[in-house]
Amino acid sequence: MNTPEAHIPCGTHDHQSCVSEALATAEELCRDRGLRLTKTRRRVLELVWSSHKPIGAYDILQQLGKESGSAAPPTVYRALEFLIEAGLVHRLDSLNAFIGCPEPLQGHAGQFLICRNCRTVAELSDAGIEELVRDTARQHGFEATRQMLEIDGLCKNCRTAQQSA
Ligand SMILES: [Zn+2]
Ligand SMILES: [Zn+2]
Ligand SMILES: [Zn+2]
Repeated sequence: MNTPEAHIPCGTHDHQSCVSEALATAEELCRDRGLRLTKTRRRVLELVWSSHKPIGAYDILQQLGKESGSAAPPTVYRALEFLIEAGLVHRLDSLNAFIGCPEPLQGHAGQFLICRNCRTVAELSDAGIEELVRDTARQHGFEATRQMLEIDGLCKNCRTAQQSA
């Protein structure tokens, strides 16, 4: 059995390379699909990727405001909508916040492990879970079109810290 694709950010890693990789992937994806990654969309994506913790639209607005003096909310919302539509960003409904997708080139349902202590989010794209949900739903006559599993808990780093405290 294959180990499912998992993107678990570890505590100490070169995050700058996550950011540059995400931006390079976004440029590739947009080029391939004939989408326009405007300056604002690119900057919003970069802000979403500023960490592995979800960011709210308000925080993005604040940051853009600091940079350019003013950032119109509709501009930011439209940029976010574009990024979600393109699969570059996921919206976590339970937190009303946004997180960058590490694997936007493949269509997938995401399973999100959300740490309630440090707020780090790890994304799994486990095809087995996706299939199980789809099949189970189908047994109830339900056709699943979108799956976002938001799983609340404690990440490895926080569990280790708790145990040694
Ligand atoms: Zn990182
Ligand atoms: Zn994803
Ligand atoms: Zn944690």
